[in-house]
Amino acid sequence: MSRPTMKPYVAAIHAYVPGKSAGADGKPLVKLSANENPLGTSPAALSALASIGKPAGYPDPDSKELRAAIGELHGIDPARIVCGTGSDELLNLAVQAFAGPGDEVLFSRNSFAVYPIATRRCGATPVEVDDRDFRADVDAMLAAVTPNTRVVFVANPNNPTGTYLPREDVAKLHAGLPEDVLFVLDQAYAEYVAPEDEDGGFALAAAHENVLVTRTFSKIYGLAAERVGWATGAPHLIDALNRIRGPFNVTASAQRAAVAALGDQDFVEASRVHNAEVRERFTRRMQMLGNRGVAVVPSEANFVLVQFGGEVTAKAAQDAIAGAGYAVRHLPELDSCLRITVGTRAQMDEIADLLAGLAGGSNEL
Ligand SMILES: *Cc1c(COP(=O)(O)O)cnc(C)c1O
Repeated sequence: MSRPTMKPYVAAIHAYVPGKSAGADGKPLVKLSANENPLGTSPAALSALASIGKPAGYPDPDSKELRAAIGELHGIDPARIVCGTGSDELLNLAVQAFAGPGDEVLFSRNSFAVYPIATRRCGATPVEVDDRDFRADVDAMLAAVTPNTRVVFVANPNNPTGTYLPREDVAKLHAGLPEDVLFVLDQAYAEYVAPEDEDGGFALAAAHENVLVTRTFSKIYGLAAERVGWATGAPHLIDALNRIRGPFNVTASAQRAAVAALGDQDFVEASRVHNAEVRERFTRRMQMLGNRGVAVVPSEANFVLVQFGGEVTAKAAQDAIAGAGYAVRHLPELDSCLRITVGTRAQMDEIADLLAGLAGGSNEL
């Protein structure tokens, strides 16, 4: 018997494991496992989605209106923007366009699970660099660059740890890379960072030929279901991605909804402020369990990584949280940790109460 054989580099891929939305018994859980916006979606984007449009027609292949709206909000020439089926598509295309068999793609340990998949699917070699205190280690990353390095990924803030590289570190990493290495700065959570702390990615992408910054509508904009993201960089980078993307890669409804969502910056700001307040409150309540073996990694994103070193294991905590009706994320490579998406204040208080009870500590504010 004969059958098609997977390429060995495809066979080496561990498929992406999405966040859970149901318990072991199939009972639906409140999803605090996929970093979705607990405030939902801007009403303006919802009404754009409710309009039926012309489903028989293909969408605008160039997402012109959307690129113009992005360009206007961020002060970027739309010619330096490409939209994708989620930023995931663009992360994959960035590797495909610039790396192949024999080439190396660099990223930090405990970073976004898509990077090794995007690397392997092109036959390139993933090089995982040790992180330090759950953060990308800029010096270690620069030391890991070889003549075969073609692409370097950094998620900032980082998923799943929530840690953040300040502007100086991002600039130092970029400055240390050879000019022919593509630096992909994945800013999926950038809108959650206080504006004065922005990491300078857009300025780097505007000034250099080897920087691609990616953004998404899946997180603060509350449009994960529509699958839309974008990237900005030098025209030759945008040209490369345009050659290999799907010709109609962003649906008509996604384009409409994203334009409307960009127009409602009040919703974005309300989401950022809500997230910062609830995240700080939850973080403080976890810190209060420090004497019970619970540790929390300071986060700039819309989720918090909690580490369990005492009598309660992460797995036991996850089961207890599921018993209360919530799905949170347990990642095999961070076995002692749970990544918990920042939900509403009431949801996070319920989880903080529950963890205090489990750990046998007190964390009343
Ligand atoms: C969620 C996330 C994305 C966004 O993916 P989409 O395909 O745009 O939904 C990108 N990078 C990181 C690090 C993420 O956590």
